[in-house]
Amino acid sequence: MIKTYQKNRSCVVCGKQTVTGHNVSHSQKKTKRKFHPNIVISLGFMKKKNQGICAKCYKTQTKKTNKA
Ligand SMILES: [Zn+2]
Repeated sequence: MIKTYQKNRSCVVCGKQTVTGHNVSHSQKKTKRKFHPNIVISLGFMKKKNQGICAKCYKTQTKKTNKA
């Protein structure tokens, strides 16, 4: 289940967003948590707040530029 938030951290390239899940303790007690995308380049300075490029997209893009 994917929940979206207004102040969302997301990747511009692949659209990866914050998703919700559970922290599960040893006694199987579950509490809410969020999984954020691993954003390495933030575009916060470009008025697009909480947006950026995730680590996976950054890696593939640098790979392409190095090959050419
Ligand atoms: Zn991405």
